[in-house]
Amino acid sequence: MFCWLSRLCGELSTPTRRTTQLIWSSAARSMVLSSQRIPELSSFVARTNTCGELRSSHLGQEVTLCGWIQFRRQNIFLVLRDFHGLVQVVIPQDESAASVKKILCEAPMESVVQVSGTVISRPPGQKNPKMPTGEIEIKVKTAKLLNSCKKLPFEIKDFMKKTETLRLQYRYLDLRSVQMQYNLRLRSQMVMKMREYLCNLHGFVDVETPTLFKRTPGGAKEFVIPSREPGKFYSLPQSPQQFKQLLMVGGLDRYFQVARCYRDEGSRPDRQPEFTQIDIEMSFVDQTGVQSLIEGLLQYSWPSDKDPLVVPFPSMPFAEALASYGTDKPDTRFGMKIVDISDMFRNTEVGFLQDALSKPQGTVKAICIRKGAKYLKRKDIESIRKFAADHFNECSLMGKLRLECADLLEARGVVLRDPALFSFLWVVDFPLFLPKEENPQELESAHHPFTAPHPSDIHLLYTEPHKVRSQHYDLVLNGNEIGGGSIRIHNSELQHYVLDTVLKEDVKLLSHLLQALDYGAPPHGGIALGLDRLMCLVTGAPSIRDVIAFPKSFRGHDLMSNAPDSIPPEELKPYHIQVSWPMDAETERAHR
Ligand code: ASP
Repeated sequence: MFCWLSRLCGELSTPTRRTTQLIWSSAARSMVLSSQRIPELSSFVARTNTCGELRSSHLGQEVTLCGWIQFRRQNIFLVLRDFHGLVQVVIPQDESAASVKKILCEAPMESVVQVSGTVISRPPGQKNPKMPTGEIEIKVKTAKLLNSCKKLPFEIKDFMKKTETLRLQYRYLDLRSVQMQYNLRLRSQMVMKMREYLCNLHGFVDVETPTLFKRTPGGAKEFVIPSREPGKFYSLPQSPQQFKQLLMVGGLDRYFQVARCYRDEGSRPDRQPEFTQIDIEMSFVDQTGVQSLIEGLLQYSWPSDKDPLVVPFPSMPFAEALASYGTDKPDTRFGMKIVDISDMFRNTEVGFLQDALSKPQGTVKAICIRKGAKYLKRKDIESIRKFAADHFNECSLMGKLRLECADLLEARGVVLRDPALFSFLWVVDFPLFLPKEENPQELESAHHPFTAPHPSDIHLLYTEPHKVRSQHYDLVLNGNEIGGGSIRIHNSELQHYVLDTVLKEDVKLLSHLLQALDYGAPPHGGIALGLDRLMCLVTGAPSIRDVIAFPKSFRGHDLMSNAPDSIPPEELKPYHIQVSWPMDAETERAHR
């Protein structure tokens, strides 16, 4: 049986209540952590021990346990579960213990009970080596039904497949599963180590910034919150970007926050409307400084049951990422790079190749699928052709095709992307601006409008802004962007020029920031790591919703409480807003 704590912080030894020095084994991270306490898991509560911690070393001890009934066998054994593991309880059969037997035999599965008794050895031949507590069992003297459980909408046992909708509707039950317990506990532990690294080892200050804020120009769509002043709205921040820069002006120097961010963009497997970032900003730092900090932070907080991280992480210019992988977030766990083979076909007579090469910037590119002929079936080749046709004209076509081919090969049993491999990569030398998708004549920031230009390209800002490289860096893990940041503009005039002249934004919205930059703003830079995505990759979960306790559905709904919900018109009055119902909803309401 899986035992959380042993996976998370090593096997607990007895006595459990002691302070120990954990020495992390590998040479790469050969640092002795400050004396770490093994947590006291039963302090302040109505149990003496957890179900998962009992071993032969506890034999003869009188214990009180609280937990959920996981199984019952022939009214003789009961398996009790808590967050720490499972333990077998022997149901007394003698007349004098009839009331205890009645409680333990009648309580439905998943009821919560408290039992007190003695830790005894299992009879010879009945030990279960697969269970951490498999050498012992509890001889019960007293039992209490703490709360009975009604018929469940699904079984808690992990092998029971359940739909995500049902899991989200009964999230509090889904949280009892092995995987959710592991994911949330590992997340908590990694965040704790990050705090330790940032605050205790490197003097960062944890500062909370407001979530009721105002609209930020550019970037993601923001949620709006009505206020009691007619026509005035707060916005939920897409990130604490402005505040962290203002903290640098305020001399806070090294800031971090486990920050909740909001973007009104709907959910995807790797996105949801509210998410958490490890948000960081530092004064007097350059790109290398921020990168080294993040490498150290991830190395320090990396789960001890995984191979230690090797730093520094490799780096790749944006242009190379696009040319060789067809994306700005390359999955470098496998090759199959895109190669330009135009030169080989300059004198070709093949019509469609000639045609492609005669176009301005026309190229012929290829991906070599090693052993493709051996593994790919005719219908795979057909599906690649269809995929290419469906995504034709997207410039990221080759990148998508590379991943599609990898999927097909893996479906045929070729291991390309080792799930145990964590391939970190810095993508650097981004352009400062990119053409807007909807109007390529106009420019938008590749990262955000506060990003500083590359020092050697500043002059181009005034003549050929599209050619300016930036001091922006993204952190990619196994083909997913898990972080991004930049060195910031700390000169008010330059910031004004970028906002007003290049991006054509309303500078009034940012007058407070422009003003602050005029009052001795230090040079500064930072980064944000997407904690949900990082945890999703670390745990191997299929979606970020599996590492968030109460996530939203695909459509941004909380399926458990039914948020967002309607509000009676009289409660809307103080906000001076009225719902304008879409036609069919109006008809439906009229008929109610
Ligand atoms: N605020 C940025 C973001 O959320 C990160 C940064 O530049 O520090 O992507």
